Amino acid sequence: VAKRLEKFKTTIFTQMSMLAIKHGAINLGQGFPNFDGPEFVKEAAIRAIREGKNQYARGYGVPDLNSAVAARFSKDTGLVVDPEKEVTVTSGCTEAIVATMLGLINPGDEVIVFAPFYDSYEASLSMAGATIKSITLRPPNFSVPINELKAAVSENTRAILMNTPHNPTGKMFNVEELNAIASLCIENDVLVFSDEVYDKLAFEANHISIASLPGMYERTVTMNSLGKTFSLTGWKIGWAIAPPHLTWGVRQAHSFITFATSTPMQWAAAEALRTPDSYYEELKRDYMAKKAILVEGLNAVGFTVYPSSGTYFVVVDHTPFGLENDVAFCEYLIKEVGVVAIPTSVFYLNPEDGKNLVRFTFCKDEKTLRDAVALMKERL
Ligand code: GLN
Repeated sequence: VAKRLEKFKTTIFTQMSMLAIKHGAINLGQGFPNFDGPEFVKEAAIRAIREGKNQYARGYGVPDLNSAVAARFSKDTGLVVDPEKEVTVTSGCTEAIVATMLGLINPGDEVIVFAPFYDSYEASLSMAGATIKSITLRPPNFSVPINELKAAVSENTRAILMNTPHNPTGKMFNVEELNAIASLCIENDVLVFSDEVYDKLAFEANHISIASLPGMYERTVTMNSLGKTFSLTGWKIGWAIAPPHLTWGVRQAHSFITFATSTPMQWAAAEALRTPDSYYEELKRDYMAKKAILVEGLNAVGFTVYPSSGTYFVVVDHTPFGLENDVAFCEYLIKEVGVVAIPTSVFYLNPEDGKNLVRFTFCKDEKTLRDAVALMKERL
C-alpha cells in the first residue's frame, strides 16, 4: 500500500459491522438506518431508470439536481447560489470531502481539524499531502477552545475542516464559536471546509451554516448529502457548494475521481430535495423519540452520557464499567452483551484522547433500541 495510506486500517465502521454480523449482536455502531427511505424517492429512482436516464450524467451534476440543491441551500441559509457555477454533485459527501482536499490543498499546506473527527478526514488530507493540525474538543460540552485554535493558525494554514452537527459527539457549533472561526479565517486568509450532512438532524439547537456569516461564503466549501436526511445512505449522492473560484478546484478533482455520479439516483435526489418542510419536521420528531429511548436507556445502564444536540449519535463515558479503554470496552460489549458501539480513539491523532469514549447511534427502529438497552441493563 502507498505510504500515504500505510497507517490506515480497515475503517472502524466496516470492522464493527462485520463483528456485529459475526456475533449476531445488535448494531448501534455504523450510522445507517435499519429502516427504509421514503417511497416517493424510491419511486422517482425507478421512474428515472424506466425513462432511460441511464447514461453518464453531466460531470458536475444533472441540471435538475444542481437546481434543487441550490434552492434548498437558499431556503436554509438565505444565500443565493448559481446552480451551474457553484454546485458540484459528488458520490456522497465522502467524495465531496476528498475532491475538496485534492482540488484545493497543496502538499505541505496545513489544515486544522477538530478531534474527534470523522475517519475519512485524516485519510483524505493524507492523500492530498496536507499537514494535519488537530484541536481536541473535550467533554462534557466539546466546546471549541478558541485560544488553542488561534494558536494553531500559522502562515501555512490553508483551511479549517469542520463538521456541524458533529459526528461522533452530536455537538453543534454555536454562533460564538462560528463567529470566532470566521474572524480567524478572514484575518488570516484561511478557507473553511464544512461538512453539514447532519444539518437536518438538529434537535436541541438551530443549525447554522458558517457560509452564511458575513464575509464567509467566498472562502467556504459547504458539503452535504442525501443519505442521512432521506435514510438512503447506500445511494451515495452528495454535493459541494462553493463560490466559482473554489468550485473550480473541487470540480477538477471530481472530474478525475469519479467523473460523474449515478444518473437515475440524481434525478430521484432532486425530487427528494423538493419535498415540503413537513418531511423534515416528521423526520426530526421520529428521531427525537428514538434519541429519548437510547439516552434514557444509557443513563439507566450507568453510563455518563454527554449531551448531543444533533446527528443520530451520542457519546458516552464507559469507564464506570472498569474496562481499560474504548476498544476493550467495545469488544466486551459485542461478545458478552451482544451490542455494537464504535470506539472513538480512531477519531483522534492521539488515540489516548478517545480512550474513555464510545459512540452509539439511534438511527434504528424503536424495538431495536429497546432490545439493546435491555441487553445492556441485564448484562453490563
Ligand atoms: N458516517 C457513518 C458513521 O459515522 C459511517 C459511514 C461509513 O461506514 N464509512 O457511522
